[in-house]
Amino acid sequence: MTARTLNLDDALYQYLLDVSLRETPLLRRLREQTQALPNARWQVAPEQGQFLALLIKLLGARRVLEVGTFTGYSALCMAEALPENGSLICCDIPGDYTATACHYWQAAGVSQRIDLRLGPALETLAQLERSGALGCFDLIFIDADKANYPAYLEAALRLLRVGGLAVFDNTLWSGRVLEVDAESEDTRAIQALNRALKDDSRIDLSLLPLGDGLTLCRKR
Ligand code: CA
Repeated sequence: MTARTLNLDDALYQYLLDVSLRETPLLRRLREQTQALPNARWQVAPEQGQFLALLIKLLGARRVLEVGTFTGYSALCMAEALPENGSLICCDIPGDYTATACHYWQAAGVSQRIDLRLGPALETLAQLERSGALGCFDLIFIDADKANYPAYLEAALRLLRVGGLAVFDNTLWSGRVLEVDAESEDTRAIQALNRALKDDSRIDLSLLPLGDGLTLCRKR
């Protein structure tokens, strides 16, 4: 027995997947196809995708926003969890991977729920604010350029409804958050976000060691 979070070795991690992962054959194909890409590390872990889907159902979410979509695995998990009248806005910059995302969303029959907006995400978020989407979103999943994480937090807190959830991926950053005087701008941004969140009275907070670290911020 231990009063701290377990270290998962390979065998225990595999056990976790064996007894709990409910990945559809389509999601599995998408994940395996993405694993062959040079930026495969941008894809969420499958248990993270399943957790996002559960969050959507727990929140009764109807309006969801994703910042950083890549080949669309997390978006597909979330879109499938949404009700018929739900919608998911996905922000990413144009890339070869976009076609893969659209292909799988279509194959899963959820493409009508997904609105993909290509361009710098901060601009898309500003556009949403200008179009009156303040306080409209139930959940915002942020898994994009780390240097902008602090800026994404501010935008998310404006766009979320009270009780809505901002979810940040990679907040343990493969352990690089422990670096002192980190050289990488990305590492410094994640460190700054993590430190700032701890005392941010606008949110309720939990950092889960799921995947590469998943931080949940509930807007108060
Ligand atoms: Ca990620």
